[in-house]
Amino acid sequence: MNDNKTIASTLVWATNYLCAVSETPRLDAELLLMYVLGWSRVKVIAEQKATLSTAQVAALRPLIERRAQRESIAYIVGYKEFYGMDFMVNSSVLVPRPETELLVDLAIQHAHRVQQPLHIADIGTGSGCIAVTLAAQLSEVDVYAVDISSDALKVAAKNVARHKVIAKVHLIEGDLVAPLKTPVDMIVSNPPYTILSEIDAGVLEHEPHLALDGGVDGFAVYRQLLADAPSKLGPDGMVLLEIGATQGAEVMALAHAHFPSAQITLHQDLAGHDRVVRIQRNTR
Ligand code: GLN
Repeated sequence: MNDNKTIASTLVWATNYLCAVSETPRLDAELLLMYVLGWSRVKVIAEQKATLSTAQVAALRPLIERRAQRESIAYIVGYKEFYGMDFMVNSSVLVPRPETELLVDLAIQHAHRVQQPLHIADIGTGSGCIAVTLAAQLSEVDVYAVDISSDALKVAAKNVARHKVIAKVHLIEGDLVAPLKTPVDMIVSNPPYTILSEIDAGVLEHEPHLALDGGVDGFAVYRQLLADAPSKLGPDGMVLLEIGATQGAEVMALAHAHFPSAQITLHQDLAGHDRVVRIQRNTR
């Protein structure tokens, strides 16, 4: 590794090491160094001449190695920012993605429009990032956060506690909407929608397949969810589904089949990709 263990030379070394596997090698190196040192990014950038101790170098090296094996920075440092909040993550849950913030925005818009206490179900809650964010952003909500994975729910429970929304978020182990006893006002979900053989190697090797696997064509979970959703949604209810960028037409067709009189719209994320299908049962 580097003999001259300054911040600057360590970052150059780590960046070069990571550039073959990461599109953001310098940022990755800075984030891992921040984690090891317990420093802010501003401090890491400002103190380029500071020297690392042998122990600090020894702590950093395996983390750089893990990143070189395409593991997400989020798993290595144990958290990921989503909607301006920190979420604890481990390999039992999908790492929250920034594009999922669109679904949260649409849910919040709807809640503000209807201006009444809402019961929301987050199906396949994973880390709980959607459920916890909605509970934190909206004053009068009850969020039923469902997941089939008890290990995922353990992570979600930590995030619920961390963000002090225990009174509003109810964690439920079960399959899709099956555990919902009464219809809710809104169903939100970022279900597994990928075709495993088509996804990025780093995602495939490190993230839970249970959260990614949409079956042979990627639509298996949408089929089940959309078949079951009508009986679990109240009269003016809304469904918000995250989708893969090429899945819009097919998911909208499925939505029309199960919600024939609903208003169904497709929404794009900040990168311009189709990302959310919104089903509004009765137009207000
Ligand atoms: N956005 C994730 C990916 O492309 C997939 C998330 C999902 O299946 N819900 O890796």
